[in-house]
Amino acid sequence: MIQSVIDLKSWIAQTPTVDEARPAACRGCGAASCPVGGRIQIHGHGLRERQVRGPPGPVEDPAIVVVEGRRYRCVCCGAVFLVVPREVLPRRQYSAAAIGLALALWGLVRETAHAVRRRVSPAKTFGFAAMPGWVTLRRWAKAVKQRRLFASVPVAGPSATLRTVAAVAATALAASADPTTRNRPLEHRAFLGAAHVA
Ligand SMILES: [Zn+2]
Repeated sequence: MIQSVIDLKSWIAQTPTVDEARPAACRGCGAASCPVGGRIQIHGHGLRERQVRGPPGPVEDPAIVVVEGRRYRCVCCGAVFLVVPREVLPRRQYSAAAIGLALALWGLVRETAHAVRRRVSPAKTFGFAAMPGWVTLRRWAKAVKQRRLFASVPVAGPSATLRTVAAVAATALAASADPTTRNRPLEHRAFLGAAHVA
């Protein structure tokens, strides 16, 4: 899977063409997709649907959106890969932006895990409503701590709680947001910044 520079909102508005979403080089063998004076090496290979969860914007209701990822095949090595919007993370159902928002709401705004879930999760049925936390939220914080998620952000010390890990990561994500967003609440900036760090 390859994350495009194209963001989720633009992608949903209109799935990019084969040419627009074509990566510059093959992830498998490094062949340039369009060598100067040569033939195109990375060919469009159809579309593949992918679900993405979370609010589309920092103040919007959570949703499940279906994006059409673009598949490509490298003629040099035969590798097939999927190009997806920038915010779509490998092996995760939620967008990077949604996870950034969740970490900020939990770690910085100090909302309860339950309240964070209401803002971020599109699931309307809370079968585990009685549970004190939201396991997915802790899983994200743990993944950050182990550098499996947002690997470029600073990690709180080894004895830090997961909530502190979330706070430190969310602060770094917020700092990655466009400077024009500096007057917006930190959690909005974490949402926007996460798309860049993903
Ligand atoms: Zn290749």
